[in-house]
Amino acid sequence: MSNCIFCKIANHEMDSDIVYEDEKVVAFRDLEPQAPVHILIVPKKHIATVLDLAEEDNELVGHIYQVASKIAEEEGIAEDGFRVVNNCNEAGGQTVFHLHFHLLGGRDLQWPPG
Ligand code: 5GP
Ligand code: ZN
Repeated sequence: MSNCIFCKIANHEMDSDIVYEDEKVVAFRDLEPQAPVHILIVPKKHIATVLDLAEEDNELVGHIYQVASKIAEEEGIAEDGFRVVNNCNEAGGQTVFHLHFHLLGGRDLQWPPG
């Protein structure tokens, strides 16, 4: 997707603070962090929303959670606790239509979220 900002970040066509990358995913710090640690984990493949995931993507989503845990350990937020969240469509708070998972931690997170 040529006009997708997360495709551009994944393809290194746009600057970001990348903390992890492999052949399937890239993880980078959110531009407007909502917690001391706020990292976005995105597949390199363009998938618009969680609704667009296919059966063949099951391994990819599992991999994203493995990466989230690894980064949480590295960022020192694993023991205290953290959150991995996906926003889907407008009422769900999605503003960028390239699938991404927020990894948030480093403070007490409220539940339920607003
Ligand atoms: P959503 O609201 O779609 O769940 O999350 C989109 C997230 O992407 C927001 O937290 C927003 O701050 C972040 N974001 C939007 N544009 C950019 C960008 O160009 N670079 C980075 N690093 N984060 C971005
Ligand atoms: Zn994209």
